[in-house]
Amino acid sequence: MRFLFTFFLLFQSLISQQVDPHRLNHNAEPIFQTIHLNLNPDKNDYSGSTIISLKIKEELSSFRLHGSDFNITEIELRQGSELISVGYEFLDYGLLKIKPIQAPLIGDYKLYVTFNGTVSKKGEGISKFVKDSLNYIYTQFQAIKARKSFPCFDEPNFKFPYQISITSPKEYLVVSNTPIETETVNGSEKTVLFKNTKPLPSYLLAFAVGPYETTQIPGLKIPGRIILPKGNLDKSRIAKNMTAKLLTALENYFGMPYPYEKLDFIGVSGHGGAMENPGLVVYMEGLLIDAEEVPLTQKRDIAYFVAHELAHMWFGDLVTLEWWDDTWLNEGFADWISMEILIQQFPELKPREQLLKNFNWALWGDVKATTEPIHRIVQGDDNPEDVFDGLTYAKSQIVLRMIESWIGRDTFKKALNNYFKKYKWKNTTADDLIITLQKVSGKNVKQVMNDFVFQAGIPLLKANLKDANTIQLTQQRYKGVENGNEYNTLWHIPLSIKIYDGNTVHKKKIFLNQHSEEFSFPGIDNIEWVYLKEDLLGYFIAVVPIRFYTNMTGQPYLTKYEKNDLLSGLGYSHLAGILNPTDILDMAYKLRQSSDPSIIETFATRIYTIWNIYKEGFNAEDFSIFANKTVLPLLESVGYGFSLVESNSKTNARDLLFDVLGQNPDVIKRSNKFANKYLKNENTLNSKHRPYLPRLFYSEGTLELHEEIMSRLKNSNIADERWLLSQTIGWFKNDILVKKNLEYSLSADLEPFQRLFIAMGVQSMYKWDIENKQTLIPWLKQNYVTLKEKVSEDILNNWLPFFVWDYDDLSLFNDLFPKDKRSRSMQKSLEKRIETLKKNKKLRELYGKDVKEYLSGFGKSVEATQ
Ligand SMILES: [Zn+2]
Repeated sequence: MRFLFTFFLLFQSLISQQVDPHRLNHNAEPIFQTIHLNLNPDKNDYSGSTIISLKIKEELSSFRLHGSDFNITEIELRQGSELISVGYEFLDYGLLKIKPIQAPLIGDYKLYVTFNGTVSKKGEGISKFVKDSLNYIYTQFQAIKARKSFPCFDEPNFKFPYQISITSPKEYLVVSNTPIETETVNGSEKTVLFKNTKPLPSYLLAFAVGPYETTQIPGLKIPGRIILPKGNLDKSRIAKNMTAKLLTALENYFGMPYPYEKLDFIGVSGHGGAMENPGLVVYMEGLLIDAEEVPLTQKRDIAYFVAHELAHMWFGDLVTLEWWDDTWLNEGFADWISMEILIQQFPELKPREQLLKNFNWALWGDVKATTEPIHRIVQGDDNPEDVFDGLTYAKSQIVLRMIESWIGRDTFKKALNNYFKKYKWKNTTADDLIITLQKVSGKNVKQVMNDFVFQAGIPLLKANLKDANTIQLTQQRYKGVENGNEYNTLWHIPLSIKIYDGNTVHKKKIFLNQHSEEFSFPGIDNIEWVYLKEDLLGYFIAVVPIRFYTNMTGQPYLTKYEKNDLLSGLGYSHLAGILNPTDILDMAYKLRQSSDPSIIETFATRIYTIWNIYKEGFNAEDFSIFANKTVLPLLESVGYGFSLVESNSKTNARDLLFDVLGQNPDVIKRSNKFANKYLKNENTLNSKHRPYLPRLFYSEGTLELHEEIMSRLKNSNIADERWLLSQTIGWFKNDILVKKNLEYSLSADLEPFQRLFIAMGVQSMYKWDIENKQTLIPWLKQNYVTLKEKVSEDILNNWLPFFVWDYDDLSLFNDLFPKDKRSRSMQKSLEKRIETLKKNKKLRELYGKDVKEYLSGFGKSVEATQ
């Protein structure tokens, strides 16, 4: 086993040492680049020029950099005052080859290029959006979009200073990564020259032009502003007021001040997240523009995003990873420290709820047979954006959290301080950090890291009582019931556990080295139960004997987060085919009076899953008796109406319970009442209203209601509301309206995400009624090309496989996207979808009959007791 694994590592390092023909080499080394752009947001094209200073270290007959999607109008190479004529060729994978008439080249050169191109409307490269009929430009270059905008060396290990200058209509705000050096007005135009940047990779360059407005961020030691589309400044409060506190916390942690001269945050429409450009962080506007009243979870999202992007100023920007296959460390680290800071500084935002969410995000892919290791090989012809997923963010974060707890907080911090001192302004690989952690801690960090980073999947840990003071732990790779593979994977796992002896809880640290191992705890007599993941520390699924569960959930010795995590083990046991779902239904019935939202949430999730998988096979009347006796009390305990300060658990539970009870006329009536109330009374609607709205549109999807929603959608100024309403119009059941809404999703002034949300709304109705499928799939087929032009292709391709609802849809999908036409990310996403179909089928074969019998028996026994 160890041998095989070592061989695998060796093989990987051989691959990475081979010359990748799609990557640049460092024979031609850029050391400085100026970029001048003529940008007018009111136009659809732009022009520019660039000068790249290069050192050519060995004799070359040609060299390559990146460039695509723009036209070159002039190009020349100079050595001192000598002009060298050159030809150029656009190659595949965004490469641009420069070939001098006279070769060879050696020494110092300057490459001059003038070019022009078109502004994107999909948030890729130099992009444009429209808000309140005004036009704005901003940029998004990660991972490989700078090359679409201007000639550059577009790989993260080309890290050197740039100087940007922009000519625009003089009335517009022009910003970039650095402060302004000079500004000159010439007639109706101005030219803004920015100061040189620190050494940066091309993916971190950023600029924006438009009728933006600005307000100061209070409490910073460097200049910093919130920059927003016109008319929104008074709506920016949360991010603005949190930033100084978050930045100070990071400075204290890293033991070094913020490394750049200024810090602007800019909010833009149509962006799906945030981007850590040093000095000019781009956010989707919903993170900087607040609704009138903001729910707790949204506040937490904002804090989490801001902390994450700020953490990148050190991790990613100051020290940049050599290549995209270490993206996991970059993102995992930013997520890890954001969580740390929220736990320390903003406990009122309930950060551990986010940690549980992240765990589920990681597991979504990682419990499947098709999962990959966190560390994925990215070749020059791959799209690095494919690796930005739950493994890269969430799994990495949880692994880092486990390591920090194992080697100790102070040791971890000391190692990081050393790392940043040593590597600032440079590039590193993940190994550089791991070696530092190992040296400072004196522990075998590399072994644990390698297990979790290079091996695919998640450990399933089973705990059993051996005798009164001994527990036995076994580990194996978790696999779903459909997965017939044999795994012999071994992880070295540091554990923080809780042991209960009938009196008190003892916290212990142990280290699991084997597939099966016994741990004795002299001095602790009569162990009653053990919980393996104290404070959610550890990346694994823990399973305990079924009798433990009811003991543990009723006691005060586990936090609500730990209970939630513990009970999620039940769900995974079911999906692995090692626990009969009727045990879960039974436990849910017993715990139906629970008032603990995290317990309700876990049961809501499990019942929802069981309902979804088995509902075709059981008698609907039997289920509705179970639902009325079990699910309804859970819903009543959560409450029908939401409150702004409630926890995630409550909101999620309500959402799921409503879905399970979707056919119950009483629940439909109640949710309609709430939906109407929110529609009529609330100034803005946000994602918290989601559970109520679908039933309203689904059951009463009248034309008048449709008109009302459309006008609200057209007039909405709040991103969160626009996105919810886009999804909402997708929920109408009426076939004519479905068609009308899908047509609308292609119309002029929607953001790319809104278009997608409309179709997603239609798709999310499958769970109650699959009629809409007959409209949606042919529509997609007809409009795929148009949709591709209007929505980011990566996102679209990733999401399309979710339309495959059952096996019948596969042929339609194959028809629309034959295998050779699928992108890598689409193929991966489709494989995961197929796995889910297989799993559900297998589970129905295994337990379908039991669930049916349980439900009919339940109905009878309830009747008998009445
Ligand atoms: Zn990030």
